[in-house]
Amino acid sequence: MQVTIDKHSGFCAGVTGAIRRAENELQQTGQLYCLGDIVHNGQEVKRLEDLGLETIDYDDLRTIHHARVLLRAHGEPPSTYWIAEQNGNTIIDGTCPVVKRLQERIAATYNAHKHDDPRAQIVIFGKRGHAEVIGLQGQTNNTAIVVEKPEEADALDFTRPIYLFSQTTKSLEDFHRLIDAIEAQRSGFFEWHDTICRAVANRVEQLKQFAREQDVVLFVGGTKSSNAAVLFNHCKDANAHSYFLTSPEDLTQDLLDDCRQADKVGICGATSTPLWLMEQVRDKLTKLT
Ligand code: SF4
Repeated sequence: MQVTIDKHSGFCAGVTGAIRRAENELQQTGQLYCLGDIVHNGQEVKRLEDLGLETIDYDDLRTIHHARVLLRAHGEPPSTYWIAEQNGNTIIDGTCPVVKRLQERIAATYNAHKHDDPRAQIVIFGKRGHAEVIGLQGQTNNTAIVVEKPEEADALDFTRPIYLFSQTTKSLEDFHRLIDAIEAQRSGFFEWHDTICRAVANRVEQLKQFAREQDVVLFVGGTKSSNAAVLFNHCKDANAHSYFLTSPEDLTQDLLDDCRQADKVGICGATSTPLWLMEQVRDKLTKLT
C-alpha cells in the first residue's frame, strides 16, 4: 500500500505566522494569552497550551491587566485593541498580512464615504459571526452589511451605492454569483473587490485532484473548523471512499480494513490541520497495516 500526504494540505501562511509568533513569545516568557483558539484544531491548541499558551475570551480580555495577548490570524476589530490598551496589555499581533490589508481597504472605503456619501453600503460576503468577519465589520463601525450567500443579495438596496468585499476564505464561484446577482438588479453605483485568498481558493481544486488519485482518502481536521467541513465535502464529492478523522485514534478497525484493500491511501487536511498530525495518522496506519 502506498500512503501519501497531500503536499498542499496543512497550515496556510497566515496560520503558520501566528503560531510562530506564539512559539517565539512562549520561548522567551513561557506564558502568553491568545484571544480565541489560535487555530481550529484541538490537538495543535493543546500542543501550544502545553508550552504555556492560555486561550481567553472577550470577557477575560476585559479583566486581565499588563499581560501579553496574541491576536490570531483571523484579525480583530479596532475595539479589541482599545480594550487591550486600556488595561495596559501588550498586543502581539498575529493577524495574517492578507487579512490586515483587507481590513485597511474596508476601513479606507468606509472613511472615504461616511461623511460625503452616507447612502453608500459596504457589503461583506462572509459568514456572520465568524471572527474574521467581526474584524472586518469593526472597520466600518459595524455598519457593513454581511451577505452569506448569493441568494441574500435581495437584502441590499439596489438604488444606493454598493462596495462589495469578501471574507478571505469564501468560494470564488459563489462570490461571482453574488456579483452577477447585484449587477442584474442594481441601478446605483457598484464596485467590487476580489479579496478571496488564493491559498484557500486554489486548495479546493488541488484537493479534489489529490482525492481522485487515491483509492481511500483520510481527511484529518478539527470538528470546530468550517474550512475542514467544506474541504472534506469536496473530498467526498471527488472520492466516495473519503473519511474524516480528528486524530490517529479515529483509525477504526473498519477503516483499517478498507485501507488494507487499497493500493493508494491519501492523507490530507484543512488549512488548520498541522502536518505533524497528518504524519501521526500516516505512521499509525503504516504500523497497523
Ligand atoms: S487563508 Fe489566506 S488570508 Fe486566511 S489566514 Fe490563511 S493566508 Fe491568511
